[in-house]
Amino acid sequence: MPSFTSAVAELDASVVKITRSTNLRPVPAPGSPEELSHSHCTDHMATVRWTDANGWETPEVRPYENLSIPPTASCLHYATECFEGMKVYRGYDGKLRLFRPDCNGERLVNSSQRTSLPGFRFEELKRLIAKLMQIDGARWLPKDQPGRFLYLRPTMIGNGPHLGVQTPKEALLFVIAVPWPDPSKKVPEPGTKPGLKLLASHPDTIRAWPGGFGYAKLGANYGPSLQAHGQALAVGFDQVLWLFGQDRQVTEAGASNFFVIWENKETGKREMVTAPLENQLILPGVTRRSVLELSRAELTRPCGDLAPVEVVEKSFTIGDVEQAWREGRIVESFVCGTAYFITPVKLIRNGDVDIDMLGAAENAGYAKQLKTWLEAIMFGKDGKENHEWSYVIEGESDK
Ligand code: PLP
Repeated sequence: MPSFTSAVAELDASVVKITRSTNLRPVPAPGSPEELSHSHCTDHMATVRWTDANGWETPEVRPYENLSIPPTASCLHYATECFEGMKVYRGYDGKLRLFRPDCNGERLVNSSQRTSLPGFRFEELKRLIAKLMQIDGARWLPKDQPGRFLYLRPTMIGNGPHLGVQTPKEALLFVIAVPWPDPSKKVPEPGTKPGLKLLASHPDTIRAWPGGFGYAKLGANYGPSLQAHGQALAVGFDQVLWLFGQDRQVTEAGASNFFVIWENKETGKREMVTAPLENQLILPGVTRRSVLELSRAELTRPCGDLAPVEVVEKSFTIGDVEQAWREGRIVESFVCGTAYFITPVKLIRNGDVDIDMLGAAENAGYAKQLKTWLEAIMFGKDGKENHEWSYVIEGESDK
């Protein structure tokens, strides 16, 4: 029975009901086919039902299993679905940590509003995840194996049975946890330089548009972009670099935000540039935000061997990137996001032009430095055990 007393209940992770699995699943070894399948979830999942009439019901942590939804469910017909992508990290001090989970909670609430799904106090998301990880953490991320992580996928679907076109009257919020290959362990093909190859999108396909929903993490953004992604992979590229508009503005790359560091043509100053949020074309990445904040704090003055950069969020075009390359002004480029972290870009193909992004120094080291700082926070090491961006999950069960 739902535990709420008011007519429409708030999401409250503290009243979670826990049912433990009696049939534990094998834990895949790092690098195994099961892990590479991105589909082998942990023993439990968190679920919470919502109805328009009563609000959020009692959250549950229960054995992982298939969902049962009616063939008429809203999400199957009207794409009433949104999700988050986060990780839970096993720290070098043995603790489990989430990285800036309130940013994900807030973004999930923004996404759910964009697709008429219910809102909730975003802090409840991290509490729900903590309940799940108190149960699954010890077995799936052993304390004596620091440096490992699981990918977390909080998801909300409109699962009500009403086929008529209408805002969802029922919803399900669930969280699953999935072992995920470590991108830093990927070895480049023999004879090739490390880094991603991006294929600039063709003018006949765009990912997002003003007034649309590119800023929200809706499944509806991803399905229609997969054709271009598949075509890019088929010709040997890693991701699509999404361009927008007649002037072909650079927006983001696959499931990550795109950064370029160059010498500014007018001022001659070194700039770290990424697309802005104001026009709502790109996903406001948690990693993007963290890279911007760290860069503004640490990289606007000399830092080791790294010359200072101005950190700028502004629109720029693929033509600007090509010109910078032709004039030898590219310093470095990288993409960033939860799943693939911070990865240098080595090449962008735009039509029949191959733009070499490695720069004269073959990666000046900004991406590497940012990665080192973020890793220390995520895994609680190098004096960053108590960083304000970390949420430590206490109370893990030993079983
Ligand atoms: N852009 C898109 C389209 C994405 O799917 C993602 C990944 O979630 C990102 C950017 C990076 O966002 P974050 O750093 O929050 O993972």
